[in-house]
Amino acid sequence: MKCIVIFGIQGSGKGTQADLLSEELGYQHINIGNLLREQVAMQTELGLMVKETIGRGALVSDELVFQVVESTLEPGCPGIVFDGFPRNLHQSEYLARHYEILGAFYLDLDEQEAIARISARRECSECGKNYNLKTNKPIHEDVCDSCGGRLKIRKDDRPEAIKKRLVEFYEHTLILKQFFAEQGLLTVIDAGGDIEDISKEILIKAKTLV
Ligand code: AMP
Repeated sequence: MKCIVIFGIQGSGKGTQADLLSEELGYQHINIGNLLREQVAMQTELGLMVKETIGRGALVSDELVFQVVESTLEPGCPGIVFDGFPRNLHQSEYLARHYEILGAFYLDLDEQEAIARISARRECSECGKNYNLKTNKPIHEDVCDSCGGRLKIRKDDRPEAIKKRLVEFYEHTLILKQFFAEQGLLTVIDAGGDIEDISKEILIKAKTLV
């Protein structure tokens, strides 16, 4: 199975860019964080297992993540855009063994800007839709445009959890730049600009890879 990886610091826009790219390419978008949060919300066995880990901003075990990835694959889909996976070297090696990695896009963003973006994030407590009080505001303050649900701050977007997630990023994820660069798969993208410009830049490169 072919795949493209989008990775970067929290708040760098991985989810947004993976969404746009997967739509353009007709690929499946797999966002592990969202999948895990859905399990928590539905209070499944897996959700109950990972709830505390996610809440404090730590990484879930690799084996659980592999299970989530495998159980989410849509039969017959031409390829996958992974967002939030891989998150460490062990996961990258797993990916390289099981998938054909076409390319990896690293979204490069200054830490202060990343923290500012994460702090402005809101999520609908009913339908899960995401907002950003700076770049993607709801029409009415604290109310979801789609379903009228109340907007809340994700538990792992609170200051203590953000700190932990950034530590995890520097300790485990940043090294993937080197991993992908050594295989000639890395493209670094400046994630500080406009969503549409970034998306175009990624798409132009991605089209040379698929
Ligand atoms: P995200 O929304 O991508 O920031 O992910 C939210 C949380 O889900 C992370 O802080 C981790 O607890 C968990 N998570 C997401 N992706 C992974 C992964 N590839 N490996 C381990 N834990 C993950």
